[in-house]
Amino acid sequence: MIKICVVEDEASIREMLLFNLELEGHKVNAYSNGKSAFDDASEFQKYDLVILDVMLPGVSGLTICEEIRKYSNVPVLFLSAKGTTQDKIAGLKKGGNDYLSKPFDLEELLLRIKVLTEGIMPSVLDNECIKIGKKLVDFATFEVIDHLSNEKHVLSKKEIGLLKLLNQNEGKVVSRDEILDKVWGKDQFPTSRTIDNYILNLRKLFEKDPKQPEFFHSIRSVGYKFTISDKL
Ligand code: CA
Repeated sequence: MIKICVVEDEASIREMLLFNLELEGHKVNAYSNGKSAFDDASEFQKYDLVILDVMLPGVSGLTICEEIRKYSNVPVLFLSAKGTTQDKIAGLKKGGNDYLSKPFDLEELLLRIKVLTEGIMPSVLDNECIKIGKKLVDFATFEVIDHLSNEKHVLSKKEIGLLKLLNQNEGKVVSRDEILDKVWGKDQFPTSRTIDNYILNLRKLFEKDPKQPEFFHSIRSVGYKFTISDKL
C-alpha cells in the first residue's frame, strides 16, 4: 500500500482514479481544485506519489509542483490533455518526474506508478519520453529538445530505433549482434562499424564530452551499454 494524492478537477477522471487506485490497495486522497492543493503543498511529503493535473481552476498544476518542490521530493506524475513535447518539458522544469497525456491507458498509469514508487526498472515501459542529460527525447516524434536552449534536433528512424533498444536494456550490455538484428533487421547487412558510427553520433548529440561518455558506453568486443539517471 502506498499513499497517493490525486489533484484533478474533472470529476469523472478523479473518481476513476480513486476507484482504481483504491482497488490496487492504495490509500488515496484527492483534491478537486488547485488552490487548496497549493495551500497544502508543504504537507505533500506525507504521500508516496502525487498525480497532478496540469490545467486546474485557480492554480495550475505546474505552479503546485513548484510549490511542492520547496518542501519535498515526492514523485510527481503530471496528467494533462496538453501532450506536446513543450508541455512535457514545462512539467519537467517544474520538478515533475513523469508525464502522461490524456486520455491515458489505466494499465500504463499503474505501471508508471510502480516505476515511480517501487524503483522497478523503467525498462518494462515503452517510455514516450526520456531525459538524457539536458535533453529530452520524444520517441513518438523522434525529436530531441534541449531543455535550456529549446534547440530541436530530429533523429533518423534508425537512430531512434537504436536509442529505444538501448533504453529498453538500460544498464545492461547490448551486443552488436542484437543491435544489428533488432534495429537493422535480418535482410540488411551493415558492418559493426556502422553501429559504431551511430553511437558516435548519439554521443555527439548527448554527451558533454563524447570522449568521456556518461550515457553511451562501449563494452570492448561485446557491444554497448546505455545508462541514464533521469527517466521520465
Ligand atoms: Ca483539468
